[in-house]
Amino acid sequence: GSTIGILGGGQLGRMLAIAAARLGLRVHVYDPGAAPPAAEVCHAHTRAAFDDAAALGGFAAAVDVVTFEFENVPAATAAALAGKAPVHPPERALAVSQDRATEKGFMAELGIATAPWQAVDSLEDLRAAIARIGTPAVLKTRRLGYDGKGQARISAPEEAAGAWAAIGESPAVLEGFVAFDAEISVIAARGADGAIAAYDPGMNLHDGGILRRTTVPAPVPRGVAQEAVLTTGRILNALDYVGVIGVEFFVAGRQLLVNEFAPRVHNSGHWTIEACVIDQFAQHIRAVAGWPLGDGSRHSDAVMENLIGDEADRWEALAGDGCGLHLYGKAETRPGRKMGHLTRISPKS
Ligand code: ATP
Ligand code: MG
Ligand code: MG
Repeated sequence: GSTIGILGGGQLGRMLAIAAARLGLRVHVYDPGAAPPAAEVCHAHTRAAFDDAAALGGFAAAVDVVTFEFENVPAATAAALAGKAPVHPPERALAVSQDRATEKGFMAELGIATAPWQAVDSLEDLRAAIARIGTPAVLKTRRLGYDGKGQARISAPEEAAGAWAAIGESPAVLEGFVAFDAEISVIAARGADGAIAAYDPGMNLHDGGILRRTTVPAPVPRGVAQEAVLTTGRILNALDYVGVIGVEFFVAGRQLLVNEFAPRVHNSGHWTIEACVIDQFAQHIRAVAGWPLGDGSRHSDAVMENLIGDEADRWEALAGDGCGLHLYGKAETRPGRKMGHLTRISPKS
């Protein structure tokens, strides 16, 4: 059997490793940390820096294919590995998703709608962008933001300087604030043969920029859900993608805007573990291993709730009977940190 290499050993890497084990595959994770969550369930290269050429070489030599569980793998790391083992999804998917301006430019090239936006490299740029886009708006660092970090809301032009300081004067994009009715996401996979399998869109509720709950099916018009799936397919094909992607959308009336995509398994796809025979983790492993994709249809409706910070310590009070419980085994509980999740399924509506 083959060995899958995963860059990143967080909860996503851990759940990927568990899925791979069920398929009879070995996994090596590569992570800079001393005791990442995935290290408990597979072979781990720990305290391994992404710019350590020797460690990367040893990792590449031990695996048959490389994938990743977080989108901020340095481009140089992916390039160094690409010469030694196949890397899925492709480097271009990493590059596009790592930079919000590149990402929005990519969507524009495909004719896929996003919020109005403008690149911002200085306070002067920001003032000009506010004058063009208007308020309310959201200033986001181009790189390295997650869980709503690196963002500042702007409700009036005089807040420009404060927002620019709040994001550390980093290269950024200004986005018009979208008065959405709902946020949805599509989790989908593309196989090495170009086949695509998409899960039904879920509706996502965020709190303070962090995903709190995903509800499936998303209560949006059928045409909107179908368009979201088709848009996801176009993104996958344009990138010649292999693996699972998570694409986040804003829904306003019948209008659909792409917010961002993650070139990996996605928090809003965790419900697939309980509600689908082939979940997003198994689907990703199948894709990167060059296996045929499985059937991603769901047999149940589902609600997934994240356990954030000390909520994980209170899971017994929060989980009902029959709730799927997932705890990530993180060494340290911190406020705002994703420590686990719960999924409740019910008969398909
Ligand atoms: P993730 O953890 O999903 O990677 P992130 O830090 O990359 O998050 P975004 O997805 O860009 O951040 O934003 C987080 C949340 O903030 C969104 O899901 C949405 O609820 C809200 N948000 C972001 N941009 C906008 C916008 N332009 N208009 C309205 N709400 C927005
Ligand atoms: Mg993001
Ligand atoms: Mg997001």
